[in-house]
Amino acid sequence: MKIPVGVLGATGMVGQHFVKFLQNHPQFELTWVGASDRSAGKKYRDATSWRLDGTMPETTAELTVEECKPGNAPKLVFSATDASVATEIEQAFAGAGHLVVSNSRNHRMDEDVPLLVPEVNAGHLAVAKLQKQSRGWDGQIVTNPNCSTIVLTMALGPLVQFGIQRIVVTTLQAISGAGYPGVASMDITANVVPYIGGEEEKMEIETQKILGTVNGNKIVPLAAKVSAHCNRVAVVDGHLVTASVEFANKPSLADMRNAFDTFRGKPQQLNLPSAPARPVIYMEQVDRPQPRRDVERERGMAVFVGRLRECPVFDYKFIALGHNTVRGAAGAAVLNAELMHAEGLL
Ligand code: NAP
Repeated sequence: MKIPVGVLGATGMVGQHFVKFLQNHPQFELTWVGASDRSAGKKYRDATSWRLDGTMPETTAELTVEECKPGNAPKLVFSATDASVATEIEQAFAGAGHLVVSNSRNHRMDEDVPLLVPEVNAGHLAVAKLQKQSRGWDGQIVTNPNCSTIVLTMALGPLVQFGIQRIVVTTLQAISGAGYPGVASMDITANVVPYIGGEEEKMEIETQKILGTVNGNKIVPLAAKVSAHCNRVAVVDGHLVTASVEFANKPSLADMRNAFDTFRGKPQQLNLPSAPARPVIYMEQVDRPQPRRDVERERGMAVFVGRLRECPVFDYKFIALGHNTVRGAAGAAVLNAELMHAEGLL
């Protein structure tokens, strides 16, 4: 018996990625879709302008879109609602006993809300139980990071053991990260836009929270300084980041490589259905990873690292690539839910 699940904001860009990612999932079955009152009452096929490659899954196309109100939705709901309404909607569902696995930014930095990257900080899930005490909710909200932060933190996960002190990261972010219609074609064609509103701040604070440790009932953020430069580039899918990192205990180059190569997390130990066999894959070629060539590998769930070398300012520098709409959105949230299922929280 599969677990019935719903998607809040199912008609939007990220919602469509959820619909696609959940198709033929071995544990979850999408039985409920919610959106605004503009879409409620219509069949999903009529309410949705399908913008992904391939066709809309037939079983979802036939579902009737509901309003995003708790009532008849399944216990587990994924959230991809517009950020302007996500706070109230997600809180209403958590208050009514739902497990809300959210992709929106609204609750990511709340003290009692885990900002999960299961390979890196599965232990942070423990703070979610505080939501019952602090907010009186019978349900919970769990979040995944911003699509560029997840690429950086997956690559840094193996390196935390060396005592990360300072990070300077520059992103080259795909157009699909801006949703639909995203960046105007006149701005992005053959161009780079060196500004993404709010992105640098999110990358800096989310990274510290994700790499932090649980002490008692609190997440203590990593004390490292993080400086992010975020840029939009003319790439369809795949966020590339270049990072320079300084450590308290500088490892050797061989230790760094070994850390990337041997890194495995809870999703791999538990053999979760959406977990990549290796979460971080080091590529030897000097000009890889590249978004167009590598982003679809491993179903978009792994992060590819390359060009590890000494940094004349900090200790080491490298590049990392991840799929922003899969590992940075729908795939990340589904993996979070698989972890919660494996931990007996569903
Ligand atoms: P979108 O395409 O504009 O979709 C927004 C969704 O929210 C639609 O399903 C829409 O329903 C629904 N919605 C809007 N107003 C609502 C209301 N008052 N009540 C209930 N539902 C409402 O946005 P998106 O790009 O998918 O982004 C969704 C969320 O994911 C945002 O919080 C965003 O920050 C986050 N996110 C996006 C990306 C990305 O790559 N785009 C990546 C990471 C995180 P209707 O169709 O009925 O209007």
